[in-house]
Amino acid sequence: MNFVKQYRCTLCDAIYKFEPTTLTCLSCGEKGILDIEYDYEMMKKVVNKSYFEKCEDYSIWRYKPMMSIHHGFINDTLHVGWTPLYHSLNLSETVNIKSLYIKDDSANPTASLKDRASVVAVVKALEHKQTIIACSSTGNAASSLAGHAAKVGLKSVIFVPSRAPIGKLTQLSLFGADVYKVDGDYKLAYALSKDAIKHFGWYNRNAAVNPHLVEGKKTVALEIAEQLEFNLTDWVVVSVGDGCTIAGVYKGFYDLYKLDMINKIPKLLGVQSEGCAPFYHAFKNDEPMKESEENTIADSIAVGIPRNPIKGMNAVVKSNGAFITVSDAEIIESMKVLASFEGIFSEPAAAASFAGLKNAINQNIIKSYETATIIITGSGLKDIQNAQKAMTSIPIIKANLTTFIETYSLGGKKDD
Ligand SMILES: *Cc1c(COP(=O)(O)O)cnc(C)c1O
Ligand SMILES: [Zn+2]
Repeated sequence: MNFVKQYRCTLCDAIYKFEPTTLTCLSCGEKGILDIEYDYEMMKKVVNKSYFEKCEDYSIWRYKPMMSIHHGFINDTLHVGWTPLYHSLNLSETVNIKSLYIKDDSANPTASLKDRASVVAVVKALEHKQTIIACSSTGNAASSLAGHAAKVGLKSVIFVPSRAPIGKLTQLSLFGADVYKVDGDYKLAYALSKDAIKHFGWYNRNAAVNPHLVEGKKTVALEIAEQLEFNLTDWVVVSVGDGCTIAGVYKGFYDLYKLDMINKIPKLLGVQSEGCAPFYHAFKNDEPMKESEENTIADSIAVGIPRNPIKGMNAVVKSNGAFITVSDAEIIESMKVLASFEGIFSEPAAAASFAGLKNAINQNIIKSYETATIIITGSGLKDIQNAQKAMTSIPIIKANLTTFIETYSLGGKKDD
């Protein structure tokens, strides 16, 4: 049972009846990304604080009455969600903010937040009796989809740009995906996947055009709310590529607001990389979104043509939030700081959230009397090459206690 009322086109506002096969607006085509609307009055009767108190499912499926899925196929999936939320004591002082929380979504089964969308995608593919599911991805959506498809016995076909990091490629290869490295950037990989999906009739896991996937991603916000006992921080910070993740975060808080479980939606800070910031420029200059180069080490947010521009922009505008940019150097520094102060090893696009928080505090967008939650969207192990840029040299020593004592007393710095 679910409480889906209708689909609404984010571009032309047309309303559609809930049809399992509808993915985008019939009159706007691919740009008419749909939003799924619920009957909150009915949902309220099931989803309330006492539901959460009693619920013993500590996975994404505890939110199944708030999602657009049937419940027949959810038991065979990998365990997604209920990732830790840490109260950071070390870093909140360093960055001069009243209180800071870190939601570590690298603790998901394939080590990124994308698992929240992929698990919904494979459930939908099963509902539709499809056997092949496909996507294009900068890396994480692909490796995530490959893992979830493997678990439920679906075949996955995946298109990645030539620059995808080897950690992600290795992951999806071992998961048994049928993978193609497109000679070019993400834009080209995306275009080819779109054509191939249409040609072969595969199930489409491209997160922007498939509205069910944002419904999966929203569970990160639902968890944060529960973990904070519905006393949310003033800000929630997340890095932005296509815009689906931040749209999901907004949707989760919006649902809770409509269910009267929170009285305010937190301000969302969308973080982009200086070398690829189409959302940031459109927001700052109040102009239509322009195509950008994809020039950053943060591969997961190197998206020159965002595929979910309206939902992504709405998330920031409607929450009274902001966009901000960070440099690659700031990202590398943040990877080091998050790891050494908090024990969290994040990939560049994930550490960008902390770099963005720091810049927003410096620019007085986030005030020192406010509170914030940053979302760690993926693990550092996925991109060891870039993590090495933050690494300090490791001394080589002889297997001899006397020389070790000598080296150690010099602070380990004597490395030859
Ligand atoms: C996909 C991804 C993002 C951004 O999500 P979008 O939906 O593309 O905006 C951020 N960080 C990581 C690690 C990701 O994999
Ligand atoms: Zn439309």
